[in-house]
Amino acid sequence: EHLLARIERLDGDLNSFITVTAEQALAAADAADAARAAGKAGPLDGLPLALKDIFCTRGVKTSAGSRMLDNFVAPYDATVVERLKAAGTVSLGKTNMDEFAMGSSNENSFHGSVKNPWDPTAVPGGSSGGSAAAVAAGLVPAAMGTDTGGSIRQPAAFCGITGLKPTYGRVSRYGIIAYASSLDQAGPMARTAEDCARLLGAIAGHDLRDSTSVARGVPDYTAELEAPLTGLKIGLPREYFGDGLDPEVEAAVREAVKVYESLGASVREVSLPHTHYAIPAYYVIAPAEASSNLSRYDGVRFGHRCDNPQDLIDLYERSRAEGFGEEVKRRILIGTHTLSEGFFDAYYKKAQQVRRLIRQDFLDAFEEVDVLMGPASPTPAFDLGANKDPVSMYLQDIYTIAVNLAGLPGISVPAGFVGRRPVGLQILGTHFAEARLLNVAHRFQ
Ligand code: GLN
Repeated sequence: EHLLARIERLDGDLNSFITVTAEQALAAADAADAARAAGKAGPLDGLPLALKDIFCTRGVKTSAGSRMLDNFVAPYDATVVERLKAAGTVSLGKTNMDEFAMGSSNENSFHGSVKNPWDPTAVPGGSSGGSAAAVAAGLVPAAMGTDTGGSIRQPAAFCGITGLKPTYGRVSRYGIIAYASSLDQAGPMARTAEDCARLLGAIAGHDLRDSTSVARGVPDYTAELEAPLTGLKIGLPREYFGDGLDPEVEAAVREAVKVYESLGASVREVSLPHTHYAIPAYYVIAPAEASSNLSRYDGVRFGHRCDNPQDLIDLYERSRAEGFGEEVKRRILIGTHTLSEGFFDAYYKKAQQVRRLIRQDFLDAFEEVDVLMGPASPTPAFDLGANKDPVSMYLQDIYTIAVNLAGLPGISVPAGFVGRRPVGLQILGTHFAEARLLNVAHRFQ
């Protein structure tokens, strides 16, 4: 009730929620109380949280930030949602996001931009900007996001919270509206690594309904949080400290690295030589997969349908023209182009080959060091409306995107400020090293 009142008071201005499910939340809170009274409390009994509006939630609008799905009420729960409910959590609603998770500032939402709670003239980051802002503003203690190219880590960094992108396959994608299926991964956003550890434990694990989820046991992610960091080998990728990095962001990250040295870690420089190719490879692969995934929105089965279609082609064309925003259309065009006959080998296949090289860079680095550290983003949160050019917006993703191409886990933790705007330290580990990342993040907090 306290948080619902807070949302009511503050979110008209902040715009972090698309839908607030007050009635369902109060009923779920009562159910959690009853379960506790009966001695059947779940591990996250009664924990209030929010869900990015990309997670299908039974009986609740699931818009993915798009006009296309603004009338879509999901008939089932995503696996993440099902597991969070089973753990006893209470969802307060669905958070704002860039349309179909395409964006780095939350300005591509059909529901309007979100303010950064630290500085209302700044963006909250994207695409999980609503989730990050809601946690930072104290509207919920935790929220779920998804990360295809940085959409958990970058908004976490911009809003001064902790956000974890798990290894690809660690968390089921079933019931998450698909953007780029070989990159999408859901994860927790909260104040601390400890909170993220508890939430990851609830959502991780194999799911027969997602063939890319991995059949591998889920450890207790809280068990190793306090483990000492003596002997930890930290690598600083040379390519993550180069041109375009804001000097004050760099200073904050280097300060954080010093704290780790004082905790007994050793630091060395490493190289990820193909970093330069990550953005071009991602912006071929992600739009290609998106153009395929978004072909299902045809005005026939669900989603927006134009008025008075003249024939089937008119129905398709006008429903899609009206339902999708500008950035989504741009990516569908890029994706259908790079997948088309005569271009496939030159673009899509080449990008997949580059992806393999990028992955190998990381695997080579993890032969030498335990974790990599660097900035989550080259700058702190930028001004609302400042980044109008799509390519300059894509360049924002330089430190986050390679991680998705490689399928690796990564976490962003708060590491100071530039003026009023937070800075995120990004920590990367090898596949399924979430427990280690959470331990390393926790010891800093
Ligand atoms: N900013 C990137 C994009 O627009 C990443 C988004 C995401 O991770 N969903 O595709």
